[in-house]
Amino acid sequence: KLNGKHALVTGSTKGIGFAIAERLLREGATVTVNGRSEGSVAEAVEKLRGEVAGADVHGVAADLSAERGALDLAAAAEHVAMVDVLVNNAGAYAPKSFEKITDEDWAGIFDLNVMSGVRMTRALLPRMKHAGWGRVVFISSESGVCTPEEMIHYGVTKSAQLALSRGLAKELGGSGITVNSVLPGPTWTEGVAAFVEQVAAEKGLSVDEMKTRFFEEQRPGSLIARFATPEEVADLVAFAVSPLASATTGATLRCEGGIIDS
Ligand code: NAD
Repeated sequence: KLNGKHALVTGSTKGIGFAIAERLLREGATVTVNGRSEGSVAEAVEKLRGEVAGADVHGVAADLSAERGALDLAAAAEHVAMVDVLVNNAGAYAPKSFEKITDEDWAGIFDLNVMSGVRMTRALLPRMKHAGWGRVVFISSESGVCTPEEMIHYGVTKSAQLALSRGLAKELGGSGITVNSVLPGPTWTEGVAAFVEQVAAEKGLSVDEMKTRFFEEQRPGSLIARFATPEEVADLVAFAVSPLASATTGATLRCEGGIIDS
């Protein structure tokens, strides 16, 4: 249970971040959600209030692809209450072949997927250290271990998150603050569903046929042979930030369906 704790989940107006926010609210935490626009944040807050009775949920719009956004979000969240739990989830991916990925693409994806987590963590650590308790989680990806083709820049940022998380865990050893990575594989978010539905329509296939093809052709090694749900990813985050995980730090908690053979 996380009663009395305040959790900040970046990029939580939809998808995996939204499921994490909902799960942490159900655990009794006060939760601050974040997204880029005021409208999407207000909508997410409203939805969470409807879904979780008595939810103590706050919303802050901030664009985390720039330092200003991260600093503003950290300040607004700490205004609600000290942040005990930080989930660095905001991230984006854009398929492109290597030669088409420009310097701007590299810098942009690095700013959002890596530097947002660096900046948020740096801003929120002092109070966690002072309290002698804290939980930091990075939402990485299977792509951080198995770099994907046609999206190498994304894979590189997801590997960087793993290195960052392990290094931070070492530096914070003995402080009462744990730092872990959660590593999802293909997850059935609204965005992924919309993409699969569009490709299925183009190919004249049903969504179920498309899903079967995807796992047969592109993920033959998947032991679950299906997309994970955002809730399954959120369950692992709930464990990582709970008092149950007090001896778990510097870890990579996988929920990628057994794709990675290691
Ligand atoms: P999504 O696109 O469904 O949601 C992304 C969230 O981040 C949204 O709330 C959006 O508002 C927010 N966001 C995007 N850009 C932002 C910005 N500049 N500033 C602030 N917020 C911003 O994404 P998702 O699929 O739920 O992915 C969430 C995380 O999980 C990402 O880090 C992603 O790399 C990782 N992941 C996703 C999958 C998958 O299959 N969906 C698999 C592995 C890892």
